[in-house]
Amino acid sequence: MSTPTPANTPAAAAAAAQEAAKPSNFLRQIIENDLEKGTYASRRWAGSPGDAAHHAAGQPDPAKIRTRFPPEPNGYLHIGHAKSICINFGLAHDYGGVCHLRFDDTNPEKEDQEYVNSIIDAVQWLGFDWSQPGNDKPYQASDYFDFMYRAAETLIEAGHAYVDEQTVEQIRINRGDFSKPGVDSPFRTRTPAENLARFREMRDGQHEDGSMVLRAKIDMASPNINMRDPAIYRIRRATHHNTGDKWCIYPMYTFAHPIEDALEQITHSICTLEFEDQRPFYDWLMDRLCESGLLAAPAPHQYEFARLNLTYVITSKRKLAQLVYDHKVSGWDDPRMPTIVGLRRRGYTPAALQMFAERIGVTKSDSWIDYGTLEGCLREDLEAKAHRGMAVINPVKLVLTNWDEVMGAGHLEPCSLPALPHAAEGVESPVRHFTIGKEVWIEREDFEEVPPKGYKRLFPGNKVRLKGGYVVECTGATRDADGNITEVLATVVPDTKSGTPGADSVKVKAAITWVGVADGVQAEVRMYDRLFLDAQPDAGGKDFIESLNPNSLKVVTAIVEPSLANAKPDDKFQFERHGYFVADRVDHKAEKPVFNLAVGLKDSWGK
Ligand code: ATP
Ligand code: MG
Repeated sequence: MSTPTPANTPAAAAAAAQEAAKPSNFLRQIIENDLEKGTYASRRWAGSPGDAAHHAAGQPDPAKIRTRFPPEPNGYLHIGHAKSICINFGLAHDYGGVCHLRFDDTNPEKEDQEYVNSIIDAVQWLGFDWSQPGNDKPYQASDYFDFMYRAAETLIEAGHAYVDEQTVEQIRINRGDFSKPGVDSPFRTRTPAENLARFREMRDGQHEDGSMVLRAKIDMASPNINMRDPAIYRIRRATHHNTGDKWCIYPMYTFAHPIEDALEQITHSICTLEFEDQRPFYDWLMDRLCESGLLAAPAPHQYEFARLNLTYVITSKRKLAQLVYDHKVSGWDDPRMPTIVGLRRRGYTPAALQMFAERIGVTKSDSWIDYGTLEGCLREDLEAKAHRGMAVINPVKLVLTNWDEVMGAGHLEPCSLPALPHAAEGVESPVRHFTIGKEVWIEREDFEEVPPKGYKRLFPGNKVRLKGGYVVECTGATRDADGNITEVLATVVPDTKSGTPGADSVKVKAAITWVGVADGVQAEVRMYDRLFLDAQPDAGGKDFIESLNPNSLKVVTAIVEPSLANAKPDDKFQFERHGYFVADRVDHKAEKPVFNLAVGLKDSWGK
C-alpha cells in the first residue's frame, strides 16, 4: 500500500465529489470571470468604508471580492434571508473575499434594536462571521448620511439633480406609464445654484414634509419608469434611532443602497429579482459619482437572483409580524414560524439550512421549492448525529403477568442500546441504559385484539420483542366499563434478553418500542404540523390567515426513556420510529422535559 497523498485521501475525494455536486450558480461564473480578468484587482481598501480619497490612501484590498448582506432591521430574519446569507457569506468565503453585515437603516421609522440584535444572532448562529481584523462591528447605512448628502449636492452641482415642488399627485401623473412617456416637471430647468439653495433649505427644515423632493435628472421618456427622474431625497421629520433629530431629510432606498455598496468597496452586490428594474439607475448613479471623483472606481455591480418561495410557508417580514401580533403563533420564535429563531427552536441546525441553500442553488427565475426539500436536509443532517431514544407517545400499559414468578418479585433488569447505532466506523457510540420490569409502556397502536391482515405486533397468541429487552407473548387485555383497553397483558419469555446468547432462540416478526414504568419519565411533546393548509398561502394576494392549519400543534404527554429525560435544551434526538425531536430551548427543564417534533422520519408532505 502506498502512503496516501492529499489528493487521494478519502477526505480529498469527498471534497472533490462535493465540489462537483455543487448545483449551478451563475454568480460563481460571474465572480470567476471577474477574478480572471482582474476587474477589481486595482481596488484599495482603507480599513473602513469611505469615499475615493479615503480608499486611495489605503492598501491594495486584501479581499478578492466583497459581498454584503444588508437587512433592514424591521423584523426577524426568515428562511429566505438564510438563503441570501448563505449565498453572500458563502461566495465571499469560497473566493477569498469578505462579506459585510450591513444594517440598512435609512428608513427612520421602522427600525428597532430588538431586530438588530436578533439579526446579529441569526447570522452568527448560521455559522458566519463578518468581523475583520480591528473591525468587528456590523456596518450601519445611517452612518453614511453625511456622505449621501454630499453625493446629492455633487449631483446637483453637476446638473444631475433638481428640487421638484410639484405635488405628489402631479409627480405621479407626470411620470406617465408603460404606454405613455412622462412629462417634464416645470422645475426641471432650474439652475444648479437654485437647486442647491433649495436643497439646503430642505435640509435646514425650512419646508414642510412632502412639499418638495430632490429628483435625479435622467430621462422622462425612458422606457424604464424607474429612470424617469426618480426621487432621491425627501423631507421627513422623524427621529432616527442612530442620528436622532439631526436630519429632517432622508435618502430614498434606491439612492442610498448603491452608495452604501460603493463606500464599502463592495464588488458584487447581490439582491433579489424585484430590483432588476433598478439596476440601470444603480449604474447611472455609480457612473455619475465615480466620474465626479467622489467614489472610487471600479464601482460595484448589482446582480439579481430569484427569491426563495417555499411551499406552505410565507416569507415576508410584514406578514410574519401579523401572525405574531394577532397571536396566531406564540411569537417570532414559535417553532412553526419560518423565521431563523423559529426554525432553530423547531430543531433545525445551521448545517441543515446551509445544505438547503446549497441544494436549491441560485437561479434567475422564480419558482417554488417543495417544503419537503427543507425537511430532507434536516433529516439528512440529524441521521448521523442525533442520539436514538425510545419514547411512547400514546401510551398504554403492558403488564408481564409472569414477571414476578420467573424474574423475581419487583426485579428490574438493566438493559442497554447504542445511542448511535449507525455510527461511522471507528466512532464509538455512547450507550443508553434503562431497565425493564413487570410493567412497561407501549404505544396503543401496538396492540390489536383482532389483528388486521399482516399485523405483526401484539395480539393474543403472538410474540414480539420489546426492543433492547425481552421477547414477550401477548395473552390479551383488560378493559374498563366503556370497553376501552386499560392494560395489555403478556408473559415474558425468559432467557431472550437482547444481546445475550439466548436472544435468537425465539424468532419474532416484530420488535416494538417501549419504556419501563419504573424509569420512564413523563414529557410534554409538541407535535407540530405545517402552519398553512394551502401550498401557496399568500400567492396572488390571497388572505393567508384563512388557510391557517387549525391542527398545526398538538400537545401530548409522552413517556420517554431516562437518557432522553437527561437532555439539555437544544439537544436533538431520534425518537425511534417517531421522528426527530429537540428539547425545547425555552421551556425544557430537567424536572419537566419538553420536546418539539422537528421532522418526521419519512417525507409525509402531500401524502
Ligand atoms: P421582507 O419582504 O421579508 O421584509 P426584505 O427583502 O424586505 O424581506 P431585507 O431585510 O430588505 O428584507 O432583506 C435583506 C436581504 O435578504 C436582501 O438582500 C433580500 O434580497 C434578501 N431576501 C429577503 N427575502 C428573501 C427571500 N425570500 N429569498 C432570498 N433572499 C431574500
Ligand atoms: Mg425590504
